[in-house]
Amino acid sequence: MPDFGPTAPLTPPLYPSAVYVFPDLDAVDAVYTQQAPGYIYARDGHPNAARLADQLAALEGARWGVACGSGMAAVSAAVLPLVAAGDRLVVSDKLYGKTTKLLRQELRRFGVTCTAVDACDPEAVRAACQAGPVRAVFVETLSNPLCRLPDLPALADISHAAGAKLVVDNTFATPALCKPLDLGADLVVESLTKLIGGHSDLTLGFVGGTDPEAGPAVAAAVSTWGWAAPPFDCWLAERGLPTLTLRAEAAASNARALADWLAEQPAVKRVIYPGRPDHPDHELAQKLVPAFGSMLCFELTDREAVNRFLRAAPGVPLSPSLGHVTTTASHPDTTSHRHDSPAEKRRQGITPGLVRLSVGCEPLAGIKAEMGKGFGS
Ligand SMILES: *Cc1c(COP(=O)(O)O)cnc(C)c1O
Repeated sequence: MPDFGPTAPLTPPLYPSAVYVFPDLDAVDAVYTQQAPGYIYARDGHPNAARLADQLAALEGARWGVACGSGMAAVSAAVLPLVAAGDRLVVSDKLYGKTTKLLRQELRRFGVTCTAVDACDPEAVRAACQAGPVRAVFVETLSNPLCRLPDLPALADISHAAGAKLVVDNTFATPALCKPLDLGADLVVESLTKLIGGHSDLTLGFVGGTDPEAGPAVAAAVSTWGWAAPPFDCWLAERGLPTLTLRAEAAASNARALADWLAEQPAVKRVIYPGRPDHPDHELAQKLVPAFGSMLCFELTDREAVNRFLRAAPGVPLSPSLGHVTTTASHPDTTSHRHDSPAEKRRQGITPGLVRLSVGCEPLAGIKAEMGKGFGS
């Protein structure tokens, strides 16, 4: 360690070390048995992941938190410790595509089955939970792309009555706008790659929870399955955390204004945003996510209209992710939902003319100016 004298660096250090050294065997024993703090091997834990996880746990109102290498690692680390062959999950029928693949296809190879339900219909979730033993219910705070919002407190009661854990992927809301653990969830999952990282320059995930016994199980899964979070990505994510609330609130306020502005554009057939009274979950959103979030969709007539918009509005880059600090567009039909059947896309309301916007926190006038180019104004 450098000798800083009475000073210390204001910003946290980055520790890329893959392994830690011990003065003797007694120190080895003390660290392995957790009688002394310390680190052994970076896949099992390192200071940058620990700092990040502690801060995120505080934001989520969690008793413990674990950082891991991606949002999908977080989904895996939350769910796999809960299940064994023969177990069943109840899952939303509108989850992030890879989450659906993991839970409904991959886990089936290990003897874990899923009952998929409309998570926005609590009675459907109750019926699915009562149809047999169930280990966990998995939902997302705001679904992709149409921002459907399940009644999390109701689902917590229903899950717990069935002896199941409620696991909530809160990536679209972030703890700045919604804290699922406060609403009764047992585990919260975040992809830090999106809004929490905020700058599209890191890939990380996070799991937090309230049950003290679940924390070590999740940490062990991260270590055993090999889902560790790289130190540099953790360092970057920590750098963004102090501005998370500012970014999330500014982006949500931009999204609210932009949704109303889009609804007035002649080329726009439909705007989908939970902050608008015509959104099916508007009332619930006022209670659970009162800032309504920064994701919205608008619908043009067809795929060619989307192409014309994108070519005319390069300032709204087409990029199949979300949560960037500035506004980006994506096209669910050709990206996130590309592999879904036409019938499944119809069921979810994903048409060739549908554009999803991830609204950023840059000045609203600039976003409108760039979007306006797309509409030829
Ligand atoms: C992106 C995303 C994930 C997966 O996160 P990665 O960091 O890309 O692995 C999971 N859930 C939701 C809702 C997402 O948007």
